[in-house]
Amino acid sequence: MAYQFEAHIMITGQITCLSGLHIGGTEEGYEIGGMDNPVIKDKISNYPYIPGSSLKGKMRSMTEWIQGKVKGRGEVHTCADPQCKVCRIFGTSAAEQHREEAAGPTRLLVRDAHLAQETLNDERYVSAGVFQTETKTENSLNRITSVANPRPMERVPRGAKFDFELVYGVYDMGDRGRADIENLAEVAAALDMLQASVLGGGGSRGSYMVMDAKGEPVLDMLGDEWRYKPENSELREAVLETVIQKDGAFTSSWKKRRPLPEEESWFENVWGKYMKGEIFEQEGNI
Ligand SMILES: [Zn+2]
Repeated sequence: MAYQFEAHIMITGQITCLSGLHIGGTEEGYEIGGMDNPVIKDKISNYPYIPGSSLKGKMRSMTEWIQGKVKGRGEVHTCADPQCKVCRIFGTSAAEQHREEAAGPTRLLVRDAHLAQETLNDERYVSAGVFQTETKTENSLNRITSVANPRPMERVPRGAKFDFELVYGVYDMGDRGRADIENLAEVAAALDMLQASVLGGGGSRGSYMVMDAKGEPVLDMLGDEWRYKPENSELREAVLETVIQKDGAFTSSWKKRRPLPEEESWFENVWGKYMKGEIFEQEGNI
């Protein structure tokens, strides 16, 4: 199919670290959709940044969930359907070049999110050209010897800001770019979900803290300016659901999670019984 470039739509924004953000090593690599260690350091400047691939991977995984494309073992979705929104927006594997020809180029480009100018100009973050990281020690316990194994973790201090930029291409596929414009709703939905899930409508939890001017004080010595939103423990019982309506509008809302099953049919139990022959007696070559 012939396609013609129509326009680039730029979407810009800022990501603020509301708690210290762990800096992962490049050797750890990125699972698509994984945001546990979203920040790495630039080899030359040594400044931390958030790779675009990491943000894009997270957005793709959310769109796959929204579009009902998460199947089987949870591997990254790819297909040969030229109308597939996930593959059209986020691209498909190089192996399916015929599809690339049918649906045109990947529409969404997510640039690396680098430190915002105001953070670069702030002496608390950058001093004499060197980014000031903080160190937090995390502990893991050896399961057999109970010996603690403290690991120092380098973190981006809270308050640091990163600029992010998305570039979305609109192509005329005989529809004057209409499908691509409509698919922008998916990009907006992914960003909305990213904000709701990563930045936390749920308040503080685990090692992240959501700041809130009307919340609880963090520490007396930090003064009144630093306040946080305590965890909303009700959300432990809920899952975030994002739905696209027929008219292309989307809504994100919290739904009550299903209860855990009552019966003790966990894998470990069932497998244990099976191994003891309590469930199936083996006869011959089964
Ligand atoms: Zn697809």
